[in-house]
Amino acid sequence: MSQKNHKAGYIAIVGRPNVGKSTLLNHMVGQKVSITSRKPQTTRHNILGIKTFQQTQLVFVDTPGVHLSYDKAINRAMNKSASSALNDVDVVIFVVDKTQWTEEDDRVLQQLQRLTTPIVVAVNKLDQIDNKNKLLPYVQKIASKLPQAEIIPVSALQGQNLDRLEQLLVDLLPEGEHFYPDDQVTDKSIRFMSAEIIREKITRQAGSELPYQVAVEIENFHEDADLITIEALILVERDGQKRIIIGEKGSKLKSIGSQARADIELLVSKKVMLKLWVKVKAGWSDSERALKSLGIFDQ
Ligand code: GDP
Ligand code: MG
Repeated sequence: MSQKNHKAGYIAIVGRPNVGKSTLLNHMVGQKVSITSRKPQTTRHNILGIKTFQQTQLVFVDTPGVHLSYDKAINRAMNKSASSALNDVDVVIFVVDKTQWTEEDDRVLQQLQRLTTPIVVAVNKLDQIDNKNKLLPYVQKIASKLPQAEIIPVSALQGQNLDRLEQLLVDLLPEGEHFYPDDQVTDKSIRFMSAEIIREKITRQAGSELPYQVAVEIENFHEDADLITIEALILVERDGQKRIIIGEKGSKLKSIGSQARADIELLVSKKVMLKLWVKVKAGWSDSERALKSLGIFDQ
């Protein structure tokens, strides 16, 4: 096949927590690659989602967002990881909420104003706007802050306007050969994805009772022809959090485990044996070394 007219590029998805970055990525790639949740800070890593169609390959980078609080090592790590993602991409999608502009949006904006990379602002959650007239002044306000950007209202959840967004991206991408094989959707290993899935189940089932300081470490990962065995350690900061995750007679942990196993099996199309442990590791979120050992600097 001729490489003529091929386009390929990296697209960073940035924005404050909870605006819908992961939802957008999943919808654009058409498969669940990033973890979404109602709680902010669910995404700790830059996860690549890859979409290839016809001559074009879009490689998405999902960033952990920009955080206001710098007092903990984990926030520093997340900020570092968010800004490094912006240096080396072809297009930036700046996701903002339909009408609520916050201080955190301003912080992201400040990083973007320095960039020469093309920017597309996706004004998300369009489905939640009752009066569409409110949108225009908001869009004008954004345009005055980022005059070089394209602005497009979307609903990441319902897929509204995502085809237009995609066309904008394609127009902005440079010509070049594809970076990845055409059938690949993520560069993350099954091992990494498994840890993310387990963390998502913990957040969904016990999230309201837990702080953000829950990490999942894969201790053992063994793949046979028809079975994958995974042993994972759930790290929390306090005994109370351990009790919450384990639940009455182990019921919560059991349900986290069986839901995670089902999702991992879908991902790998194989049977999975999943063993989970919960361990208290006090103060881990404050220690850079602990973060490193948990792979938070693995970019
Ligand atoms: P992130 O922190 O920016 O990655 O945000 P997520 O993708 O995890 O989304 C945060 C929450 O907003 C989730 O509950 C999503 O279901 C919800 N959400 C995302 N996009 C939309 C949208 O277009 N419409 C509505 N109504 N909800 C959305
Ligand atoms: Mg996210």
